[in-house]
Amino acid sequence: MKITEIEVLEADLSGRDGMASWRVVLARVHTDEGISGLGEAGVTYGTGAPAAGPMILTLGERFVLGADPFHTDTVWESLLRRSVWADGGGPIVYAAMSAIDSALWDIKGRALGQPVHQLLGRATPAPLRCYASQLHLGWGENGRWLGEPEQYTEAAVQAREDGYDCVKVNPIMMDREGKYATGLRGILTPAQRKLFRQRMEAVREGLGPDADIILELNALTSTAGALQIAELVQDLGILFIEEPTHNNSDHAHLKTARKSPIPLAIGERLYTRWGFLPYLEAGAIDMIQPDVCLVGGISEAHRVAHLAHAYDVGVQAHVCGSPLATAIALQFEAGIPNFDIHENHAYTLRHANRELFEEDLQPVNGKFAVPTRPGFGMTLRSDAEQRMVKSSVKLAK
Ligand code: MG
Repeated sequence: MKITEIEVLEADLSGRDGMASWRVVLARVHTDEGISGLGEAGVTYGTGAPAAGPMILTLGERFVLGADPFHTDTVWESLLRRSVWADGGGPIVYAAMSAIDSALWDIKGRALGQPVHQLLGRATPAPLRCYASQLHLGWGENGRWLGEPEQYTEAAVQAREDGYDCVKVNPIMMDREGKYATGLRGILTPAQRKLFRQRMEAVREGLGPDADIILELNALTSTAGALQIAELVQDLGILFIEEPTHNNSDHAHLKTARKSPIPLAIGERLYTRWGFLPYLEAGAIDMIQPDVCLVGGISEAHRVAHLAHAYDVGVQAHVCGSPLATAIALQFEAGIPNFDIHENHAYTLRHANRELFEEDLQPVNGKFAVPTRPGFGMTLRSDAEQRMVKSSVKLAK
């Protein structure tokens, strides 16, 4: 089998259904046998998505066209070593590599009639435990960013009613009016700490005693502030603190890990096994959160998970993208031995995102059944595809 064309499909949904910045970038890889596969670049949110499509096409044209899609490891290593910039690169090059690699796994699954987790050697597991992620963005189809502590209680109650026994919330991202907060670097003031504590108490009140809370800090805090918050909320039963401090400084993270009374989780802004290794070696991370659409695709996510397995560290895929990103994460999580919990992001509930694919993947009672159709089993809706901006590179005849 030979790769003949690589397409990029983009949908800018920014501003729709409360999603401030939301630009989906997909790769679709075609073969000479009529089988095609889908992958996604994990830069849907934040700034940078417009750069991912051209990177997919540039890498694809130089190193992927003409290759056999079954040779995922050969293609991956070629992208890493021959592109110059992937060897030490950042989110755009790794997002592009991830999209290409995942699309190849989708092709392999479709060609063999197997879901990706079975290609990775794993039997289909029981439905995966799942948590309601990013409550502060508002939970539900019409969620809006939350300000007052009472709103955090309401969101927690809603998540509990939906069947979740774990949630993730960032108590510092929003100001009291529910707008993006500023002034979070350095030590935090008594007024800030009071508000953050009130919100975390509100979440615990809404959940009751028999549910877990992951405290998300999104690397908005400095080490000093993260440690202040850890001390402030440790009595509320916090499972992990996520991204307590700078991603550009493993020293800051190590310092936090040494002093924090709560275990730490990071990974959505780490790339490849070399990015995770220093944290694992130092014993400074208690759950890894690689994003399959950023870490290097299914191939590299699988390697990173096994690297963590050697350190007895569990895995939760970071997921914040289109329904395809959810499908990819589920196949990865079902395909590893050290899965802990699946992240169901608040934006997976928003209509504009759900309307991209024919399959509407949602958990039931806080548990996610792993799809067993070939590949990732996802079908882009034709009406959604018509609205997407497309570009492609093709193998010369
Ligand atoms: Mg996060």
